[in-house]
Amino acid sequence: GANSGTRRQKPNILITGTPGTGKTTTASALAEATSFKHICVGDLVKDKNLHDGWDDQFESHVINEDLVCDELEDIMQGGGNIVDYHGCDFFPERWFDLVVVLQTENSILYDRLTRRGYSGTKLSNNIECEIFQVMLEEASDSYEEEIVTAMQSDTIEDIDDNVASLTEWIQSWRP
Ligand code: ADP
Ligand code: MN
Repeated sequence: GANSGTRRQKPNILITGTPGTGKTTTASALAEATSFKHICVGDLVKDKNLHDGWDDQFESHVINEDLVCDELEDIMQGGGNIVDYHGCDFFPERWFDLVVVLQTENSILYDRLTRRGYSGTKLSNNIECEIFQVMLEEASDSYEEEIVTAMQSDTIEDIDDNVASLTEWIQSWRP
């Protein structure tokens, strides 16, 4: 399969989903529970300037995907990473043992993004992204079906359940 030849002693997990679905909350709770490393790609891009400037239309940095992948290659080879990003098609497929797509009911996501200060096109683009399951489709197109899993993230209880089941998955993973 796509992961043959890897020698990781610990798995890598990608947590993806539309902004506001709870990637960072889930990834940091999972990192705390497992002592895995939480890599928030958005923060990394800002901190290490792995971007090509600011996009006024999308109100976000234009991520430089090659720089991000170069920055993470050695870290990912070691395993034990939880990568958190609202995109997944540019990472090497061999990096990940599990790809989690978080999903949130539209009205709940709308409230979260409004609270975060999103409005206008940025708000509606993200709500549409969730309605059309863009991130699930991107993950399914980019990784083997067996490693892609969707998880609901509407409530705090969902976060607890998701972290518990991912912790169990990590503990039973074998190289
Ligand atoms: P993301 O990293 O996907 O953009 P965050 O983890 O930053 O999302 O979460 C966005 C906001 O929504 C935060 O205020 C967080 O506390 C809240 N939130 C995220 N997931 C849930 C959930 N399952 N239940 C309740 N609140 C949540
Ligand atoms: Mn986040």
